[in-house]
Amino acid sequence: MNAPAAPLQFQPRATRAASSFEQQLRKEVDGEVLFDAFSRGRYSTDASIYQIDPVGVVVPRSEEAARVALEIAVEAGVPILPRGAGTSQCGQTVGAALVIDNSKYLNQVVELDAAAGEVVVQPGMVLDRLNAALKPHGLWFPVDVSTSAQATIGGMAGNNSCGSRSIRYGNMVHNVLGIEAWLPGGDLFWFGPSEDVERGPSGYRALIEKVHAVARREATEIEARWPKVLRRVQGYNLDMVLPQAPHNLSHLLVGSEGTLAYSRRLRLKLSPIPQQKVLGVCHFPSFHQAMDLTRHIVKLDPDAVELVDRTMLDLARGNAAFRAIVDRFLKGEPDAVLLVEFAGEERATQLRKLADLTVLMADLGLPGSVVEITDPALQRDIWEVRKAGLNIMMSMKGDGKPVSFIEDCAVPLEHLAEYTDKLTRVFEKHGTKGTWYAHASVGTLHVRPVLNMKTDGAGKMRAIAEEACALVKQFKGAAYSGEHGDGLVRSEWIEPILGERLAHALSEIKELFDPRGLMNPGKIVRPARMDDRSLFRFKPGYAAQKLDTALDWSEWGGFDRAAEMCNNNGHCRKFDAGSMCPSFRVTGDEQHLTRGRANTLRLALSGQLGADALTSPAMYDTLQLCVSCKGCRRECPTGVDMAKMKIEVLHHYSRRHGLGARQRLIAFLPRYAPWASRLAPVMNLRDRIPGLAALSERWLGLSAKRSLPAWRRDPFTQSFPRLTPPPSEESRAKSDSRSQPLDATSLPPVATGAPGEISRASVQTSDVVLLADTFNNYFEPENLHAATLVLQAGGYRVHIARPADGGRPLCCGRTFLAAGLVEEARAELRRTIEALAPWAERRVPIVGLEPSCLFTLRDEVFALLPRQDAETVSRQALLFEEFLAREDAAGRLRLPLEQQSARHALLHGHCHQKAFGAMSAVESVLRLIPGLEVETVTSSCCGMAGAFGYEAEHFEISMKMAELSLLPAVRKAASDTMVVADGTSCRHQIHDGAGREAMHVARVLCAALPRNESRRS
Ligand SMILES: Cc1cc2nc3c(=O)[nH]c(=O)nc-3n(C[C@H](O)[C@H](O)[C@H](O)COP(=O)(O)OP(=O)(O)OC[C@H]3O[C@@H](n4cnc5c(N)ncnc54)[C@H](O)[C@@H]3O)c2cc1C
Ligand code: SF4
Ligand code: SF4
Repeated sequence: MNAPAAPLQFQPRATRAASSFEQQLRKEVDGEVLFDAFSRGRYSTDASIYQIDPVGVVVPRSEEAARVALEIAVEAGVPILPRGAGTSQCGQTVGAALVIDNSKYLNQVVELDAAAGEVVVQPGMVLDRLNAALKPHGLWFPVDVSTSAQATIGGMAGNNSCGSRSIRYGNMVHNVLGIEAWLPGGDLFWFGPSEDVERGPSGYRALIEKVHAVARREATEIEARWPKVLRRVQGYNLDMVLPQAPHNLSHLLVGSEGTLAYSRRLRLKLSPIPQQKVLGVCHFPSFHQAMDLTRHIVKLDPDAVELVDRTMLDLARGNAAFRAIVDRFLKGEPDAVLLVEFAGEERATQLRKLADLTVLMADLGLPGSVVEITDPALQRDIWEVRKAGLNIMMSMKGDGKPVSFIEDCAVPLEHLAEYTDKLTRVFEKHGTKGTWYAHASVGTLHVRPVLNMKTDGAGKMRAIAEEACALVKQFKGAAYSGEHGDGLVRSEWIEPILGERLAHALSEIKELFDPRGLMNPGKIVRPARMDDRSLFRFKPGYAAQKLDTALDWSEWGGFDRAAEMCNNNGHCRKFDAGSMCPSFRVTGDEQHLTRGRANTLRLALSGQLGADALTSPAMYDTLQLCVSCKGCRRECPTGVDMAKMKIEVLHHYSRRHGLGARQRLIAFLPRYAPWASRLAPVMNLRDRIPGLAALSERWLGLSAKRSLPAWRRDPFTQSFPRLTPPPSEESRAKSDSRSQPLDATSLPPVATGAPGEISRASVQTSDVVLLADTFNNYFEPENLHAATLVLQAGGYRVHIARPADGGRPLCCGRTFLAAGLVEEARAELRRTIEALAPWAERRVPIVGLEPSCLFTLRDEVFALLPRQDAETVSRQALLFEEFLAREDAAGRLRLPLEQQSARHALLHGHCHQKAFGAMSAVESVLRLIPGLEVETVTSSCCGMAGAFGYEAEHFEISMKMAELSLLPAVRKAASDTMVVADGTSCRHQIHDGAGREAMHVARVLCAALPRNESRRS
């Protein structure tokens, strides 16, 4: 029966203790076997509100290994939970079971028949990867779920997933042609067309006969009670295997959430990629009207009709990245818009449909309400805004979060307006509200009421769910579950919707496939109560342990709250665009993923991994491959900032365990750099005398396979005074506006000693402070010289801020932060801020060359120093290229750059340049050189990441990161192509891995100056 019950718990058979189960898996399964508390914790959640510790995890290396794991679990009576990316929203992928993770190894295309438009894949294949492989054939798999970058085909089939264009292509169930699956009894069958059943093995025939008997018996009840909307993903698809008509038996497995069988291979139907797309943005003065009129719009045969409501439009407008896009497609202040897409082969047809849409909207009383978008690039941008709206909503800080539990009820379009009105009133009654968006075309609107699941959320959730269920039942043919499946949150609502009799029939189906109830128990049949708080991520009594943090986490409401921001959507598993998350890209491990780290931290901070978990070696292992690239800071939809969290953890770790010699050597580099530079010939012996590199590996753990950066005896800060003649009259005259003195008469005198020291009256808009970072200063001073010359050639007066104490050069504290030495970093930063503040107060730009150093002044500084101290300097801090791009955009930059013999530049972005959106600046600045073509490598982290790549234990991983795309691109580049990289360690990696010398953009520009300018030094 489908009534709520206690969830099944793993009871190891008396004869087999859990540990012997684990040992047997280790012995017999070719795969990773993870039974430690940290690993199990990482697999205890999905994108739902639930958390259940699995018995253990197996990551099989082969299909045979998956079979063996399955067999051992069945024999031991241990439940089994197949898993893809774990992005289910309803709790499908959590359970007290042996988790079999397909995503790392079982992710290949097995067979592609492009002519027939069919492909066979393993279950761990990710949708975007599949579509990338299909693109050259002009084909795609069109179930375009929002999680396409991470969702696996096995998981999509498990949930009967649906994409934005389901009105054209249908759901998963309409696009799966067959599934080869193991039953828990050990049989392996290809489930496919009903006409093939007779040719199947006897066991298969017998099974299908019984399935048909149940379906035949319930045909009348199915006709009477089963939802009729396209988006119906509740229970097993019994309505699709009625024996009266031809059908496909794999459709019973689609949407079965791993409760019937384990899919080994899936045969999919492919579609041609439509060549022509146009988009109409329909504006509505009221939300109700948008809902009411959707039913007319779908008659025009669109490929998608997606809703974006007022709240989301406002959120998108408030986001700097999207404001300009929204302004291009939004007219006035509509209460809602519908994005209506038409796609196909012929442009004329699509344009005609777009024109029809405009006429239709006028006929419906809204003339002039359609913005027609035919530019493909703008269409792409608009779809990005639509997707990002949810992400912005999910980034809500604090304990109240939008919760997914009724977010995809599907109602016939004629009832859409009434349904949304009534559900909004239900929310109001319970003191909450929700934002509506998504698939209007098929009556499936996403809405998540904001609830606090740590306090009264569970009660409100049940009350709202009950009313929503009753509401859905009022509309004939509607489905309570229209996209995300049943899982833990919705299985108990199957019976109220389908009735007792059909719920019983589903139990019979389960019994036929899995008589011992071992496949993903507690989902679809025999569910727990959705509001059983013992199954929640935030269980009763959940509380973070007290921690005296080194960084300021008040922006999140505490360090624990920052870790809790991860909602497990799995976006950090993406592999193509952007940089998040390099360590996962090369390992494929949940442990080395932003999500895995955030979950581990949350569990540790709330005491669920035992005492001292935060400073345990297992926690260190969890974070050690995080290269602090800050990719997640920018790309994680909820803004999980693991680089910052790592600093906090390392701070506590180093306090408990101390620091090794290597860590000290690297961390304190800025402090000993002045004398190391004086002793450069001695310091550089390590790479000159044979055997010393090997000794440095043995004693210090510095990889012998790496050369170290060579110390220079001529650091920039020593030679700079010779280089800063005041700007000539000629160069000042180049820009009248720039040479106007700032009104600085009321300011205090500049306290910093600096070459070309300025007094209050002489501060000019042409003044620039160049931040000489430790790395460029002591290892590549020519970059700072080049930057100075470029700035001077542009008519700027360059200064270097020196510390008030007149001592060693300034430093941002980055090397200390990397070791968790927060106090030392704070001291460095304070010194730097004090030195820069007088310049910043006069609005003098502070320009830096090394991305990780400069951005410390825009990022970590706020976690280390009081905001009022840091803000002024932070506002003025710019990367060299950002400064030049800004000046150019303002029409103030006149650099006399000349065409070079090298016509092509291959650009690799430092992770922090990407994280802070500075790539377009460096690209545009390079393009100032006449005739230079700039190609940017689509790369993630180069793998060096400060000291990471020099560390012996990380050398291999570091090279793997570089080999993902950077090094192959550099090797492929013609010999006369300039390789450009602004990060010191990136340049080192390019040198080590591809034998090419990369240049900082400052040197590239300097080389393009007329000869007399570039030789002034
Ligand atoms: C932000 C966000 C947006 C989303 N957008 C959409 C959307 O647009 N459309 C949509 O439909 N869904 C959406 N989802 C839900 C989810 O992403 C999809 O259901 C996705 O297809 C699940 O894929 P997965 O690889 O993560 O599967 P998992 O969560 O790992 O697994 C899903 C189910 O499949 C089962 N399963 C996995 N592999 C196998 C196997 N080999 N054999 C048998 N069973 C197996 C699992 O046991 C589980 O029950 C969204 C989720 C989030 C967090
Ligand atoms: S870390 Fe961010 S991107 Fe990754 S799962 Fe968590 S919320 Fe999503
Ligand atoms: S900082 Fe980079 S490596 Fe670390 S978790 Fe974030 S994306 Fe991954």
